[in-house]
Amino acid sequence: MIHKAYGYWIHEAGSPDPEPPLSGEHRFDVLIVGGGFTGMWTAWHLAQSDPDLKIGLVEAQRIGHGPSGRNGGFADAMWISFASLVERYGQGPALDLARAAERSVVQIGEFCEEQGVDAWYRLAGYVNVSTAPFQDDGWDKDVEAIRAVGIEDEITVLDAEAMKAICDSPAFRGGVHYRMAATVQPARLGFGIRAALLRSGVSLFEESPVTRIEDRPPGVVATTPGGRIKADRLVLANGPALAGHGSPLRQNVTLASSHMVITEPVPDVVEEIGWTGGEAISDCRSLLNYFRTTPDGRIAFGWGGGRIVAGARRFGRAEVDPEVIAGVIESLRTYFPALADRRIEYAWGGPIDASATHLPHVVSLPSGRAFAAFGYTGNGVGPSQMVGRTLASLVLDRRDGYGTLPFVEPVEALTKVPPEPFRWIGGTVIREAIGRKEDAEMEGRQPDPISATISRIPELIGFHIGR
Ligand SMILES: Cc1cc2nc3c(=O)[nH]c(=O)nc-3n(C[C@H](O)[C@H](O)[C@H](O)COP(=O)(O)OP(=O)(O)OC[C@H]3O[C@@H](n4cnc5c(N)ncnc54)[C@H](O)[C@@H]3O)c2cc1C
Repeated sequence: MIHKAYGYWIHEAGSPDPEPPLSGEHRFDVLIVGGGFTGMWTAWHLAQSDPDLKIGLVEAQRIGHGPSGRNGGFADAMWISFASLVERYGQGPALDLARAAERSVVQIGEFCEEQGVDAWYRLAGYVNVSTAPFQDDGWDKDVEAIRAVGIEDEITVLDAEAMKAICDSPAFRGGVHYRMAATVQPARLGFGIRAALLRSGVSLFEESPVTRIEDRPPGVVATTPGGRIKADRLVLANGPALAGHGSPLRQNVTLASSHMVITEPVPDVVEEIGWTGGEAISDCRSLLNYFRTTPDGRIAFGWGGGRIVAGARRFGRAEVDPEVIAGVIESLRTYFPALADRRIEYAWGGPIDASATHLPHVVSLPSGRAFAAFGYTGNGVGPSQMVGRTLASLVLDRRDGYGTLPFVEPVEALTKVPPEPFRWIGGTVIREAIGRKEDAEMEGRQPDPISATISRIPELIGFHIGR
């Protein structure tokens, strides 16, 4: 098994030749910091809106090699968070946002079609499955909230038999199928957007970490080790780094990690368990397992419960964590016993930027010249296209319905996370307690009272945990 930070998808897609780092002085209308999906989609929508706009995108490492090129490739609409959206924004605004997120999933497919990007886009829906009695009501709140706005065709509740017909695992007890979700090969998608940006005339700079930003009239100035950029508008799309020292949003973002493995091609197993429909699946644990197939019959399997990351430190156990990977492989083989003696070819991981609500937020910073998005909490692939469009609308002050979506909020309205080192210490203790509690429940045991109590702390202090 090859266990590295970058993982299978980037290897399979093949990294494109790098663009040169920033050197010398440059001037742009809009500067974007961060070359993940959020930054790239923002650049794409800006370039589509106004081909004369001078757009620069600066990436610390390689574009699309961060979490955006290494995730599970689940491109979900936001129905799986619909109850939380209604709770935060009210029914009408929540529905506007969910519909926009749904369009986002469709528009990713349209982009691939129009731009000739073979990102293995497959619109086959998403299934939440219960794998233990404590998960049996895992989807009730969302299903109720969706039905309360009169929507029936987005969701199908599945009994054990119907679940078996989608994917036959001895662990599965029933589930719910959300129609509007796709899977992609995330690195292929990322590299495809990167190529489209180059064709559209967007200036890309790689291996160029922004080390300093000055935001004062008449514009912004960003500095990297090799150069400086002046711009009228700034978009911060540097994801997990927004939790770090010097970030204007460090009080709003906390960092966890997620880890994945992928098998050798096992088309016979995929066939045998009847999982030929291409559905993305996750269980209903708070620290969830998620899994999908690929066109060549591999099974990719991930766990969203990796370690909490101190500050915004990268390239440690957030990306490569043998202990966590051993647990991921054990869960994979529990859910799919037919994989007992099949080879695992790759393992990898990456940081997850979490907000207190577990929902993405888009903010306009106090100067009015800078904008940012963060807090996808492991669900950025589908929504990032819509978030990029929203950021583009805010930058251009365009009244097209995106800049007024309810997740555009003033920074002051956002729930704060505790400062470091309390964020890391508290997060770690809670993560471990939830892990112990859910492991016990998975094995049909009563969780120990201390773990059960600590697991409830996030809820008591208004933090959302899990999807
Ligand atoms: C293992 C794993 C599995 C996941 N599975 C899924 C999934 O199945 N579905 C889903 O929806 N989401 C999933 N996610 C989450 C998803 O990957 C993210 O929500 C999404 O990629 C966020 O995109 P982004 O552009 O905001 O951030 P990123 O992809 O993190 O991009 C930010 C970029 O900013 C760059 N940067 C940071 N600091 C600087 C700086 N100072 N100067 C310049 N550049 C900087 C970084 O190098 C990085 O390339 C998963 C994440 C992981 C790690």
